[in-house]
Amino acid sequence: MRKINNLNLSTSLIPQTIFESVTESASELSVDTYVIGGFVRDILLKRPSKDIDIVCVGSGIALAKTTAKKLGTKRVTTYKNFGTAMIKYEEHEVEFVGARKESYRQESRKPTVEDGTLEDDQNRRDFTINALAISLSSNNYGELIDPFDGVKDLKRKIIRTPLEPSITFSDDPLRMMRAIRFASQLNFDIDPDTFDAIINQADRIKIVSKERIIVELNKIILSKTPSYGFKLLFQCGLLKLIFPEMTDLYGVETREGKSHKDNFYHTLQVLDNISENTDDLYLRWAAILHDIAKPPTKRFNKKVGWTFHGHEDRGARMTPKIFKHLKLPLNDKMKYVQKLVRLHLRPIALVKKEITDSAVRRLLFEAGDDVDDLMTLCKADITTKNPNKVQRYLQNFKVVEQKLKDIEEQDQVRNFQPPVTGEEIMEIFNLKPSRIVGDIKNEIREAILEGTIQNDKKEALNLMYTIAKEKGLEKS
Ligand code: ATP
Repeated sequence: MRKINNLNLSTSLIPQTIFESVTESASELSVDTYVIGGFVRDILLKRPSKDIDIVCVGSGIALAKTTAKKLGTKRVTTYKNFGTAMIKYEEHEVEFVGARKESYRQESRKPTVEDGTLEDDQNRRDFTINALAISLSSNNYGELIDPFDGVKDLKRKIIRTPLEPSITFSDDPLRMMRAIRFASQLNFDIDPDTFDAIINQADRIKIVSKERIIVELNKIILSKTPSYGFKLLFQCGLLKLIFPEMTDLYGVETREGKSHKDNFYHTLQVLDNISENTDDLYLRWAAILHDIAKPPTKRFNKKVGWTFHGHEDRGARMTPKIFKHLKLPLNDKMKYVQKLVRLHLRPIALVKKEITDSAVRRLLFEAGDDVDDLMTLCKADITTKNPNKVQRYLQNFKVVEQKLKDIEEQDQVRNFQPPVTGEEIMEIFNLKPSRIVGDIKNEIREAILEGTIQNDKKEALNLMYTIAKEKGLEKS
């Protein structure tokens, strides 16, 4: 097997068996064949990549079928309408397509497609670094075809469109999001003309579906330093169009010599901080949304200056609407984010020495298993530049964490299960499901959280009988 060594590639990143089979199949079918796009970019960057795009000047489906036979795999999926086919082999997904030429209309990002040459196919790619192709045909195996100086851009760390950027973005405005996503993932700059075109074409994002936009936004959020991507989105005007609640956080107001902090940059700092400690997309979303209701709750008070009372509750109420609007899932992930937004100020309130055990128990009860994530969020929320303060605040949180640990060991309320269930109450007093059953359960829970009784069955049953008596209930 010949190596693609003239490019000095780390061959361990190249799935030799797959490439060998593609080459043989291409010879048999007499079609020029290339590996193209993200896979080439990633191996040049020495990033492992599982998705391989193969383009041939001919039928992608025929090439896929022949290759699959050689690989001895039956896992070929064909998409006749698109003229593409996909093979799963070991951990790789290999997509085959015939080279194509695309032309666009004003109102849609879906092009008209016709068969084309490799050059046509490279012309329709979004960025120079994504337009690289390496030949897999046996006559010039391993040759890099780089019509737009993509390798140079990889070295210079630049995102640039191959053709006139305003046409590229106007044709398919999703590419604006992709430009910023790649810049954020790879820590690249965006070429000034390309970025100018994004500024000018930002409005066109309205023809892109929200589902597509959120995929890119989530990739930005999952990048190493997501603030970078968000700052680019903000500067070019896209952020205001796709997520206006976030740009509302921007700015500092001063009255009577008193200013508040810029909550946009604060939020981005919190997001970067939390990203050092978690790759969980939704914990990162909680960081993004933790102060989202500061603008609508902002007030100025002559005595105390700026206040944002209730921003945590208001933010929790805004969360489902924002999720819905952005087409994020409206499931337990949303509830999780909502909970963290609602509770994000609570741990700090537990710092005070005189705080009661019941306050700690209540937080454990409300946060449940998410209490550790809540603490991660609270620590990320420390954005002061003063190192002494940072140390002091972190020390305070250590104290809170110890209190949480102690109380949990003592009372186990983190995963609170009522020691007396509704069924038991109904059976003992011969009741049908009714409000009174709920009332008794609530009173028992309150007593446990308040510390009036222990979280144990015997004490709970005793209390149940006392409450029942007060309510005039008789044992059945
Ligand atoms: P990743 O795997 O990180 O998403 P990728 O570059 O492989 O990166 P894909 O979305 O899988 O991204 O796209 C594969 C290739 O198809 C890209 O490298 C690019 O050449 C081309 N491509 C994808 N989307 C577009 C688009 N909207 N406009 C033009 N070319 C595109």
